Amino acid sequence: MARKPLSILTIGGHPKDAIIASGGTMANHVAAGDRVTTLCPTHGLSHHTEAITKYKADRKMPDVEALKAELMQELVDAATELGVTDVRILGHDDSVPIVERQIIEEIADVIGDVLPDIIITHALYDSVPGHAVATEMTLLAMEAASGFRPGKSYPPHKPSQVFFHAQAGRTNVLETNISRVPTHLVDITDSIHKKSEAMNRLKTQGYGADSPTQRKLGEVIDGILGIHARVPYAEGFIAHNPSLYTTLPVVIQGDRDPAQMTNMLLDNYKPQ
Ligand SMILES: [Zn+2]
Repeated sequence: MARKPLSILTIGGHPKDAIIASGGTMANHVAAGDRVTTLCPTHGLSHHTEAITKYKADRKMPDVEALKAELMQELVDAATELGVTDVRILGHDDSVPIVERQIIEEIADVIGDVLPDIIITHALYDSVPGHAVATEMTLLAMEAASGFRPGKSYPPHKPSQVFFHAQAGRTNVLETNISRVPTHLVDITDSIHKKSEAMNRLKTQGYGADSPTQRKLGEVIDGILGIHARVPYAEGFIAHNPSLYTTLPVVIQGDRDPAQMTNMLLDNYKPQ
């Protein structure tokens, strides 16, 4: 029996984050008929790799408004590749990522608007400050949205689950405090090319058809998460809340041929 469509909200501290960590899962939920919204609280200027490199070389202050617009358009374009048309960009400055009440209020407004069953975001103690702060603000926004907010038109709402990204962040010793062992894996083999196309839209952030970065990340992160589940590619998540059942659940290994697990679907893939 078909289940009721879910509302999924993915949140990344920078424009590329939700795509890289959960793009395949987003595409799978779109294909399953679910509502998927992606939210970025910032404009992501601190991650405009291309402009930063150029500025270091020529010391000419670029047109930052144009750069912000470019970053935000890239996220819209990347989401479109996944079939996600609901993109919310709050456009806050990300040069000093701190928890701000205004941003929390705005995230709570998005929660109130899309009423997510599931929120997907960074690991709580991700050592990239902009990631950890995004998650902290997300949890605070959930708290706000779950209660009475005077002047708001939506009813109190609490998502049923939060899934944190279970993937490596910045390589440093703080990361040893973070669990990277996923509680849930999503087989993204059928959507890996969509994810790859989406990542290639993030040209100013080091990706693009001329760069092998998406292929490298696909094979080493999604590939290693998939291989133990005997599928070519998977995304990994850590559930925030224990799930309640009346009997213990088990997922029987899928029907994908285990021999497929070493398929390198990105190897000879020609980006569009
Ligand atoms: Zn990031």
